[in-house]
Amino acid sequence: MNEYDSLRILDLTKKIDYIPTSNHSEANCYILNTCHIREKATEKVYHDIGRLKKEFKNKKKPIVLVAGCVAQAEGDILLKKEKYIDAVIGPQSYHQINDMITKIENKSKQINYSEFDVIEKFDSLNSIKNSDNKISSFLTIQEGCDKFCKFCVVPYTRGPEFSRSIKELVLEANDLVKNGAREINLLGQNVNAYDFESKRLSDLILEISKIKNLKRIRYTTSHPRDFTVDLIKIHKNCEKLMPLIHLPVQSGSNKILESMNRKHTIEEYLDITKKLLEINPNIKFSSDFIIGYPGETKDDFKKSIELLKRVQFINSFSYIFSARPGTPAFYLSKIEEKEAKSRLIEFQNIAENLKIIYKKSLINKTVKVLFENKMKIKNKYFGRDEYFNSVIVESDNDLVGKIKNIKILEGNQNTLFGEIVPNVNRTHYAA
Ligand code: SF4
Repeated sequence: MNEYDSLRILDLTKKIDYIPTSNHSEANCYILNTCHIREKATEKVYHDIGRLKKEFKNKKKPIVLVAGCVAQAEGDILLKKEKYIDAVIGPQSYHQINDMITKIENKSKQINYSEFDVIEKFDSLNSIKNSDNKISSFLTIQEGCDKFCKFCVVPYTRGPEFSRSIKELVLEANDLVKNGAREINLLGQNVNAYDFESKRLSDLILEISKIKNLKRIRYTTSHPRDFTVDLIKIHKNCEKLMPLIHLPVQSGSNKILESMNRKHTIEEYLDITKKLLEINPNIKFSSDFIIGYPGETKDDFKKSIELLKRVQFINSFSYIFSARPGTPAFYLSKIEEKEAKSRLIEFQNIAENLKIIYKKSLINKTVKVLFENKMKIKNKYFGRDEYFNSVIVESDNDLVGKIKNIKILEGNQNTLFGEIVPNVNRTHYAA
């Protein structure tokens, strides 16, 4: 979502004649768009500012803004501790960034914009065309979260759940497709909680799928509690919807899920995966796991491993529990660091192994790849198959924006390499 926000910030600042530059030391305004999900995010900001200070030691100081969730959560502290920062701007206030920059240009004092006016934000953004011109583009449809998992900062930094209207989303999706997008990834902190005047995510997917040149739709990130029947069914009815579902579970133990306030059980989670597979056996899953959550015993950890093997996630993102200031879990006693690390290593080894087995199973198979860009290496093109696997092929023809059948020849954990399967022209003769 930060990537989407950063692109929208660029669209906004163009209005006051700021354009992006790759010439780092010549920039006259820096915007650090930050994430607060993991520990050390704030230290990273101080580190980046330190680097800027050195770089601009003998030059005119650039305008320095800190945007995103660190700004929202710790804006006042940042401004107090680091005078080099001119302003902080929370993720729900960035539509006011031009006003902020203008004030700083006019020698205003340090500024903190961190209101939660998400309606005003999207009203302002709607008036500016999304100029993203990537083959695979992001589209934020929903923001914020009402779930309050005990470890998570999102409800405090992004605010309550808010869904944008279908009308404005279809308009923006159309703009993206006109700019060249062939795949749209619908984004939300709780994307399947999308609810605008009783229209759900499945309704939005159907509407967006009507856009002629749009070939693929994805959505992320879902919460098991909001995985309603209509969303399950749409995986049968909408061909443009990709069959990879990212469905974070966080732990395989009901006891830990309860103490995290996840609002679902493992049985309910498995029931969703079962229903989805019944409706479309091609579906595969990826997930997020927190390892070493306070109170996690060896037995709880074992249950996470059991779940990993049972669902056969093709991708699992796992992290050691990271205590975020301001969340209820911050005050819980952590399990021993050494133990948490050893569990993470064990978990990731098994997850990696599953991934290798899965990738090997693709060798000699034909997959459909949407090509996103030409690589710097001569005649090589990068794309993704339906399950978001990275695929590289060689071609003398321009493949960007095209979907091709690719036979996978070899691969490693991260990338598959293949060749284009030529179209066979069949001629039918009457007997
Ligand atoms: S559902 Fe996701 S975004 Fe919401 S509080 Fe839980 S982890 Fe955070």
